[in-house]
Amino acid sequence: MTESDNATAPSSLYDSPIARELADLTSRRRALEAVRLQFHGGTRVLTVSNQKGGVGKTTTTVNLAAALASVGARVLVIDLDPQGNASTALGVPHTADIPSVYDVLIDEFPLADIVQTSPESPNLLCAPSTIHLAGAEIELVSQVAREHRLRTALDDYLATVDERPDFVLIDCPPSLGLLTINAFTAASELLIPIQCEYYALEGLSQLLGSIRMIQKHLNPSLHLSTILLTMYDGRTRLAQQVADEVRTHFPNEVLQTVIPRSVRVSEAPSFGQTVIAYDGNSVGAVSYREAAVEIVRREQQKAQNEGTS
Ligand code: ADP
Ligand code: MG
Repeated sequence: MTESDNATAPSSLYDSPIARELADLTSRRRALEAVRLQFHGGTRVLTVSNQKGGVGKTTTTVNLAAALASVGARVLVIDLDPQGNASTALGVPHTADIPSVYDVLIDEFPLADIVQTSPESPNLLCAPSTIHLAGAEIELVSQVAREHRLRTALDDYLATVDERPDFVLIDCPPSLGLLTINAFTAASELLIPIQCEYYALEGLSQLLGSIRMIQKHLNPSLHLSTILLTMYDGRTRLAQQVADEVRTHFPNEVLQTVIPRSVRVSEAPSFGQTVIAYDGNSVGAVSYREAAVEIVRREQQKAQNEGTS
């Protein structure tokens, strides 16, 4: 559209909320295209947890992973949920006959033997879950070092693999059982997705209490690094109130970027894709890419500040 088109068209057309949103999305996309990031060889291990179901853990894990891969990071997703939704969304086969995280946790398979590459990107890897993992919660109870099994497997993997990932993202089931505890023991960062709805904060203190127990007994380096507000509907006052409340409680952890509720985000998994591959220019994809950039930059900023202070 040229300036003169703009001048002759009724101004209301260009002043509508939808037109403003589109213009805004275009400028956000341009800003993302200009982003250049560098990765420095260390591996950040984040567990995506919230004991509530349906808050966007899996959606956040796979889309952040794909968004990070799209800006040049090498990313491994570990699917710890027996439902295997993360494996599905990454287009990775995970039928019962496929070696999976179950074999790693119970039969001590090397992680390298089960990791697959997502068809979406050579930089996007997935350790799939299969239905067998549903039994692992019980089977782990009688195992030696039952809380450390994922940690040990991941440490071995990172020490021996040719190309170390820059990020490992672990998708947790909606419970605080042994699978989730294995994730807490293996990670150093906790990422909590929070759905901007009523009751959003309910259960959070229980989760943070569990984290304190893990810090004390199993993994002193685990810390809450990131909170991501998801399924945000800016038209409702409730979503804004929840977002404000979470920001008041966790000013340093909540990302500026908010993931809006978006049909494209919810459609993508049924095509075995992340929203980054399914519709990379949609508002959901752009938001996850912005969140990925923020997660990388915040940590680099923190490291710089620590270096200069
Ligand atoms: P969890 O892993 O915490 O159980 P999911 O990631 O599976 O949650 O999300 C629950 C449901 O919400 C899924 O159907 C998913 O497609 C949908 N969903 C998640 N994030 C969004 C979003 N930003 N917009 C629309 N739907 C979403
Ligand atoms: Mg899930």
